[in-house]
Amino acid sequence: MILLDRVTKAYGKGSKPALNRISLHVEPKEFVIMVGTSGAGKSTLLKLLTCEEKPTSGKIVVGGIDYHTLKGRQIPLLRRKIGVVFQDFKLLPQRTVFENIAFALEIAGMTNREIRNTVPKVIELVGLKGKEKSYPRELSGGERQRVAIARAVVRQPKILIADEPTGNLDPKHSWEIVRLLEKINRYGTTVILTTHNAEIVNKLKKRVVTIENGKITSDQAQGSYRQFGGLKENAS
Ligand code: ADP
Repeated sequence: MILLDRVTKAYGKGSKPALNRISLHVEPKEFVIMVGTSGAGKSTLLKLLTCEEKPTSGKIVVGGIDYHTLKGRQIPLLRRKIGVVFQDFKLLPQRTVFENIAFALEIAGMTNREIRNTVPKVIELVGLKGKEKSYPRELSGGERQRVAIARAVVRQPKILIADEPTGNLDPKHSWEIVRLLEKINRYGTTVILTTHNAEIVNKLKKRVVTIENGKITSDQAQGSYRQFGGLKENAS
């Protein structure tokens, strides 16, 4: 469960808040799409959830952890609950597909045996069987994003944040990634997807939360993409 109660984030004293008294409730296993123009506050919201930024005021509770009382040493535990994927994949170029995914487990202190056991399962899940020994440069954009998703879910987080995961992909690969996110969601992971892709938003028929100017301006159960203030929908 994700709960934000009147959360404000201002980056500088006296500056206009990036988020202004936002309240949001996301149930376990939900699939939520977050939309809004560039500068609306989406990344700030995601950074608050991953504890990269602290709120100026308001309450954040994720999976029973109240961020206000969170100690520094508990942050790794919290991050375990939240997997993140980005538009630009952020893979390690000198490592193979297998090694990129294994890396997430190595830093978590898993044994080689556990790693050898776990990684093939997640490679299978994301449809990359046969590509274990490939390097990122040998993969298509869609395949690279699959590796990034595999790495994000290999420790079985409760929540997967996908921040513009299709931003660098063509329509066919974009849909493959969205279908993979749906599959991961069906297995029980809460998914939060930010996107500027109107077609994806309109066809998915999921909950759509719209952020404009640091405020949630709409929250629809089976939402659609609305054009914002005349700005281009693919502005990033
Ligand atoms: P989005 O992800 O919707 O494009 P952001 O959350 O990145 O929006 O930005 C919201 C507002 O906060 C913008 O006005 C942006 O300039 C500002 N902002 C974001 N990050 C920082 C930062 N590290 N320092 C100062 N201002 C920031």
